[in-house]
Amino acid sequence: MSEGFFKEGNGLVQLSQTMIEERIAELGAQITTDYQGKNLHLVSVLNGAFMFTADLVRQINLPLTIDFIGISSYGSRTESSGEVRLTKDLASSVKKKDVLIIEDIVDTGLTMQYLLNYFKMREPSSLKVATLLSKPSRRQVDVPIDYSGFDIDDAFVYGYGLDVDHVYRNLPFITSKGS
Ligand code: 5GP
Repeated sequence: MSEGFFKEGNGLVQLSQTMIEERIAELGAQITTDYQGKNLHLVSVLNGAFMFTADLVRQINLPLTIDFIGISSYGSRTESSGEVRLTKDLASSVKKKDVLIIEDIVDTGLTMQYLLNYFKMREPSSLKVATLLSKPSRRQVDVPIDYSGFDIDDAFVYGYGLDVDHVYRNLPFITSKGS
């Protein structure tokens, strides 16, 4: 198999496979400590968070349950409108569960604000947010983030679950187009 596509260095690599792996191990350890004795229920936000979720759950040393919610933003690729369309609803109730939302990236915060409202109405015991990436300089609404992998600059990134027009989600690292 050709190694070319997976080789880091096609663009401006921001986060290597090793960096991601090490940070996720730290997040998993922290979550393991924080959720001792709790009823941990992860909700992974599709599509972007699928890879982060798969790696993170294997670093959480606790019994847990997991569900998936699918959303798609009405905004253009780079400008979130905050209007969110549900493409897949939850399979199980979150009532009285300790819900941890797993997201790929928080940019303006509008999508996360929508999700937090969506979950709060369904009366979980607790509600927290884990995101692999955050762009603090782009925030339009203040959303609480309990576990954040990396703060990144204002650049459009892809790989490791994140796409460019539906492609490149399978890259094992995160990169951005050079300016
Ligand atoms: P927000 O509502 O916080 O502005 O945006 C959240 C969503 O926009 C993310 O879940 C993701 O789908 C998309 N998004 C924001 N920034 C990026 C980026 O740099 N790369 C990719 N691929 N998607 C992004």
